[in-house]
Amino acid sequence: MASQRPIYITLEWQEQGPLEKTPGSRLWRDERLVCTPYDYPELIPCSNPDCDNGGFEIGDRIVSLLGSDRTSEQNSLVCRNAIDSDRSKRCLHTIIYSITRVSPYQRQKQERVASDRSVS
Ligand SMILES: [Zn+2]
Repeated sequence: MASQRPIYITLEWQEQGPLEKTPGSRLWRDERLVCTPYDYPELIPCSNPDCDNGGFEIGDRIVSLLGSDRTSEQNSLVCRNAIDSDRSKRCLHTIIYSITRVSPYQRQKQERVASDRSVS
């Protein structure tokens, strides 16, 4: 774990929220961001105009991916205002995200490693 290999992270997410008057959902955002292990967002802001200070806590997910031996993760998150004792304040926005860890060395080796996966 002491290696200082240059790593960067690509983060993609789609934010969805319910429509106001009709059933169904609306795509609010479809974004892509490249960051590093030292400079990544803790929180993706929520786009819901009625949501007070909400957001999606992506920072913890990035940390856990970096601490694992996986190279990517796809999952979803709800807005941190999804839980509120006042029902009218609950935010129903969600994101579907994809985090990918990319290291330049890994990329070069990947083709060989793919067929002969060694355990270190
Ligand atoms: Zn929200």
